[in-house]
Amino acid sequence: ELANRMKERVADVVKFMMQQGEMIRGIDTLDVDTAELIVEEFGHTIKRVSESDVELGLEGPADADEDMKERPPVVTIMGHVDHGKTSLLDALRQTDVVGGEAGGITQHIGAYQVKVKSGEKITFLDTPGHAAFSAMRARGANITDIVIVVVAVDDGVMPQTIEAIKHAKAADVPIIIAVNKMDKPDADPTKVLTELLQYDVQVESMGGDVQAIHVSALKKTGLTELTEAISMLAEILELKANPDREADGTVIESKLDKGRGPVATVLVQRGTLKRGDIVVAGGQWGKVRALVNERNQQMDKAGPTRPAEILGLDGPPSPGDQFVVVENEARAREITAYRQRMIKNKAASAPSARASLEHMLARLKDGVVTEQAKEAQLVVKGDVQGSIEAITHSLETLSTEEVRARVIYGAVGGISESDILLAKASEAPIIAFNVRANKQALALAEKEGVEIRYYSVIYQLIDDVKATLSGMLAPER
Ligand code: GDP
Repeated sequence: ELANRMKERVADVVKFMMQQGEMIRGIDTLDVDTAELIVEEFGHTIKRVSESDVELGLEGPADADEDMKERPPVVTIMGHVDHGKTSLLDALRQTDVVGGEAGGITQHIGAYQVKVKSGEKITFLDTPGHAAFSAMRARGANITDIVIVVVAVDDGVMPQTIEAIKHAKAADVPIIIAVNKMDKPDADPTKVLTELLQYDVQVESMGGDVQAIHVSALKKTGLTELTEAISMLAEILELKANPDREADGTVIESKLDKGRGPVATVLVQRGTLKRGDIVVAGGQWGKVRALVNERNQQMDKAGPTRPAEILGLDGPPSPGDQFVVVENEARAREITAYRQRMIKNKAASAPSARASLEHMLARLKDGVVTEQAKEAQLVVKGDVQGSIEAITHSLETLSTEEVRARVIYGAVGGISESDILLAKASEAPIIAFNVRANKQALALAEKEGVEIRYYSVIYQLIDDVKATLSGMLAPER
């Protein structure tokens, strides 16, 4: 990297370092003094920039008004469990008119786009539920334009219905009410709509401005009315983006695919993403080798609010991570190296001790640590990015007055030696969800005193950590 920047040959720089008696140890980064020495030796001027300057200019220039074009809305479905979120997402998938010729929506990639009869396009985020929505928001990714709150007509407003309304209001996202299961005998939507008044949701028939649509996800009725309601609201919201620029957007989902390697579903928010572009997504980068849509078809490009799987990244980024197209590989390497350093620094800033949950809590209880450090740090490794996100979110809500749980690092894949070292450095135990440690990692964990807890059911994991947290902190008799 340094040779590149100086426009010198790598071999010359390496040779110089050998002459100085410095062995280059493959992965090492140069310390500042060595770098300075080399730069001076080669007759170049040094310009010191601060670490964070690396990210400067990433977002590119602002868009001019005349470049802004209409874009499809992004819709998330929320509501109480069993009120029909999944069924509605399935039913809406079939409202797609492109399906016939081009093959239906066959893949779950975290989001899909339909073209409805009237010609408008709508993008649906395909992970129902509130955890996904808040996890995204917590990372600063406000990607939803409209929330559909599903309420089953026979069940009415329930706790998670209220939560969904609160989430949408907190994010300042307008809602549409879908009164579902209208096929049920004696279905009375008025009761539901009246209940909603208590939660500050006034539907049109009650003199308010919130649209309420009667649907049956089962019998597929009311779906056209629902998509029309979405398009109408989208028009009022005047959703626009500039399609003619380098793309950026948000990672929706990611996984490590056995055959295809790291695969990330991204939602383009500005610009147009093209095959061959070099992207940085969170702490990962790569050249976009392929763009695949929800019909499992290859695409050449993806414009604003088009969901697409991208292949070619060097690792799976996290949902909620921003992605951005950069000018070349050197720039991509520089940004990701900086970001990974930041993650490591954050994780390694704690002093070392035995990395087990009990030990950590014992120390908290003894008052060995300072007030602000009363934080149970955890490392989470899991099989898919989605479960890591869900676990992280649940663990972080476990916090009590005495102690706060915080996931300092979460990643997809088996437990490796570097995970053990990271955990050890932060005195954090490792929570393993549907993954195991390899032999070397196990040996290292034993040697370094890093605890690994294995789970395959999320609620057991949560219960167990919760029990440990509260048990260890209970007053002694
Ligand atoms: P979710 O938990 O909100 O995702 O709800 P699901 O989509 O899994 O639906 C929960 C249950 O309600 C399932 O047994 C569905 O078959 C049923 N269901 C969903 N929509 C309808 C509907 O419109 N009418 C009827 N009668 N049942 C429905």
